[in-house]
Amino acid sequence: MDVAEQLKDRSGGICELCTASTDLKVYEVPPKSTGGVDGSMLICETCSGQVADAETMDANHWRCLNDSMWSEHDAVKAVVWRMLSRLKGEGWPKDLLEMMYLDDATLEWAKATGEGEDESERIIHRDVNGVILQNGDNVVLIKDLKIKGSSQIAKQGTAVRRISVDRENAEYIEGKVGPTLTVIITKYVKKTS
Ligand SMILES: [Zn+2]
Repeated sequence: MDVAEQLKDRSGGICELCTASTDLKVYEVPPKSTGGVDGSMLICETCSGQVADAETMDANHWRCLNDSMWSEHDAVKAVVWRMLSRLKGEGWPKDLLEMMYLDDATLEWAKATGEGEDESERIIHRDVNGVILQNGDNVVLIKDLKIKGSSQIAKQGTAVRRISVDRENAEYIEGKVGPTLTVIITKYVKKTS
């Protein structure tokens, strides 16, 4: 049996992260060069895309980690640990990380890609669609915004260029509306570029 078949056997033919049963492929968990069944897992298209690109992470999809964290396979555990670390800012993944058990070697493996470093303090800002916002992004207001300390109201649809995110609080970003630098509620904007 080749690796793909062995993994199919091991998993019962489902994604070992989210249990999807379509578009499955073998994912060799980096950075282990040994590969093989113990170094790999079966993963679906949705999961693998988001594992590869942190920017596209959809936190809701990863609720599946609630179950897959109990996998008995180290390769799966290592990836679950990485995804939970990446999503720590959401709150619930932190609780799961605390419940999770990895032996020393597996934990070392999980950490080897640099995931989870200095992330305990990380705060993630998301727009109305859940898209991650970063300093320098451009957004539009999806609600009328009262400018603090003035009678001015910025209308829904107003573009705010080059925002900065509040390092302490995921609920707020800052941006210039006209000449005025103002605080904006993160979920009332939509990222444009
Ligand atoms: Zn999946």
